[in-house]
Amino acid sequence: MRTTVGIVGAGPAGLLLARLLHNAGIDSVVLESRDRAYVEQRQRAGILEQGTVDVLRAAGAGERMDREGLRHDGIELRFDGRRHRVDFPALTGGRSVTVYAQTEVCKDLIALQLEEGGPLLFGAEALAVEDAGTDRPRVRFRYEGREDVLDCDYVVGCDGFWGVARQAVPAGLSRVFERTYPFGWLGVLADVPPSHDELVYARHERGFALLSMRSPEVSRLYLQVPQGATAEEWEDEAIWDELERRLETRDDWRLRRGPITSKSVTPMRSHVHEPMRYGRLFLAGDAAHIVPPTGAKGLNLAVGDVVTLARALTHEKETGSAALLDAYSETCLRRVWQAERFSYDMTTLLHSDPGASPFDGRIQLARLERIAGTRAAETDLAEGYTGFPLDEAVRRHGPADGAAPAGAEGAVRAAKGRAGHPGRRRA
Ligand SMILES: Cc1cc2nc3c(=O)[nH]c(=O)nc-3n(C[C@H](O)[C@H](O)[C@H](O)COP(=O)(O)OP(=O)(O)OC[C@H]3O[C@@H](n4cnc5c(N)ncnc54)[C@H](O)[C@@H]3O)c2cc1C
Repeated sequence: MRTTVGIVGAGPAGLLLARLLHNAGIDSVVLESRDRAYVEQRQRAGILEQGTVDVLRAAGAGERMDREGLRHDGIELRFDGRRHRVDFPALTGGRSVTVYAQTEVCKDLIALQLEEGGPLLFGAEALAVEDAGTDRPRVRFRYEGREDVLDCDYVVGCDGFWGVARQAVPAGLSRVFERTYPFGWLGVLADVPPSHDELVYARHERGFALLSMRSPEVSRLYLQVPQGATAEEWEDEAIWDELERRLETRDDWRLRRGPITSKSVTPMRSHVHEPMRYGRLFLAGDAAHIVPPTGAKGLNLAVGDVVTLARALTHEKETGSAALLDAYSETCLRRVWQAERFSYDMTTLLHSDPGASPFDGRIQLARLERIAGTRAAETDLAEGYTGFPLDEAVRRHGPADGAAPAGAEGAVRAAKGRAGHPGRRRA
């Protein structure tokens, strides 16, 4: 089998990249080790930054998101029994976020790919990326019980943290920056309307809690749990009791309880692999970096990477210049590190570290007081939460002839494809 761009992994990064390339007239093949139902039901992220929403819409994948996604103009911080709302549009010149689950983003992109795009093979497990340092990179994979090879001009590793693509970067060229946190998140889905109309981030001596939602009928809730804890250790009533304690306020706010339909534990980790490119292999999304979910950045970073890459590949196709491809790693890493910093700040602001002293606890409260009482600190949080620009690539390196313009306009134009039409159908 042969294609221009071989994409390993059909998470949000791989699926959106395939869509963006299709819109730009570049062919690709997506290899996904799991089956379609698994990919569509894997519970993960749920907050889309403004830039992500704009890109999905421009790529022709925004129709259901526009109908069913919930626009959120703020979050609430809870500490010491107090409530403080952060008003995003007022602090950021009009930006907001959208609650629309990753499962739904994947369903929309899969449907589009199968209907209009190139091959998307479920149950196709990449075994190795080979010859990445040459002009003829290839992916060895297993499909329907047989081994096969995908010959490519470029390979993109969108295969998440546990994927194989990253292993093709020679050890001597890789640098890994990592931090693991001594706690995880127990996440539950519950068939009950959310107890608040915006996300609530609560700092409590007993640990962090997050009240979130998937829809007006379904709540998504999280509790900080010790590292190594399992979901089975937690009875449903104990989860509700603990949420109630940590989300408690001094007013008459009440937590609504309902049937819990799923629960799982997520470890907390910060991880960056540098560089994000080796030869003709590019890494995107969780394959290159992980953030703790406190800042809701994982999915949005994956989108930023593939927008940058799609634009660079389009630029190369149209002008013959590899300048944007050469800048890919550096460009993405700048944004990645801002998101790493923000996610780290949010995590250390709100979680209770088992090794922390009473002094550390007071510092956390002082940081929260500063956000609640100072416009500059509050603006910093609002800007970080609603997202970092997608367009550093073009701004830093200058738009070459024919390249997309800088700014949000550039990201959106890249998502639409050169003709400027979202979701051009095949003739
Ligand atoms: C349990 C969990 C909860 C999370 N919660 C949040 C959250 O609340 N908020 C937030 O912003 N982020 C969250 N994240 C992070 C967010 O979901 C990820 O950042 C996002 O999924 C990244 O997308 P991706 O496409 O890069 O990787 P992934 O979504 O991991 O997709 C990688 C794909 O590659 C496939 N794959 C792997 N190996 C191979 C192979 N060898 N061959 C072929 N295919 C392969 C996988 O099956 C998968 O479909 C969470 C992550 C996890 C793991």
